[in-house]
Amino acid sequence: MHADGYRLFTGFVRDLTERQQTLRRLHELQAELSHVSRLTEMGQMTSALAHELNQPLTAATNYLEVGHRLLTRIEGDAGSRAARSVADAAGQVRRAVEIMRRLREFVRKGEGERRIEPIGQLIEEASALALIGVRDSGIAVRLEIAPKLPPVSVDKVQLQQVLVNLIRNAVVAMEGRQQRELKITAALDAGGAVEVRVVDTGPGIAPEIAERLFQPFVTTKPQGMGVGLSICRAIVEAHGGVLRVAANPGGGTVFAFALPAAG
Ligand code: ADP
Repeated sequence: MHADGYRLFTGFVRDLTERQQTLRRLHELQAELSHVSRLTEMGQMTSALAHELNQPLTAATNYLEVGHRLLTRIEGDAGSRAARSVADAAGQVRRAVEIMRRLREFVRKGEGERRIEPIGQLIEEASALALIGVRDSGIAVRLEIAPKLPPVSVDKVQLQQVLVNLIRNAVVAMEGRQQRELKITAALDAGGAVEVRVVDTGPGIAPEIAERLFQPFVTTKPQGMGVGLSICRAIVEAHGGVLRVAANPGGGTVFAFALPAAG
């Protein structure tokens, strides 16, 4: 306990994971979390769409490949340019098919389940989960959970998914930075809702994606899907909150959302 009643934790990632009661519980949670993205409507719609689009896109690839073969038989500059162009088109369609495949893998349908949960514990567990595998990264982690917070009515797995996404994004953003400080806070806001913040000292949001940040498939990462934040936002909104982003005054990024207190 902090002097003013804050449950305060400061330390390095290693301490945080070791602090959890049992590793087994963490692994259970991790398994639960990683095999679901329990967004009923969005999940179902996305899977259906990906499924429906897969077939015409695959057919288009085949037609384009045939077209390409025929065009390579035409002699001259125009023929070879047309062939190249068709080959590029086929490449783009294959990319779309691949995005669909990854999307279907990523989204799993499932029913959300709301329960009254203590937010502090939920945050502690999610933080420990998110930081598994980032041991020894030298990130200073600080959790600040205000005292006597009201409980919230949430789907725990979904909420943890939001936190894990935000924390992992923060960790990645701070890779290679000299100052690596991650702060996760929960406190009452002016309207009596529980506000959760994930604050990092990374480079901030890249200006070229800032306006589209919460849209799906917006990413600056070579291997990124760019769906994490759009899913986080959908989950937070389904819980009656809004996910916001702001610049961290000390450099870096702040993601924040407030959840209505239960009861
Ligand atoms: P992905 O992580 O697959 O790219 P997200 O939707 O989670 O998908 O994030 C989209 C983009 O937002 C990231 O590629 C990154 O450019 C930016 N971003 C997210 N979180 C942060 C952060 N904490 N600091 C800086 N940029 C971030």
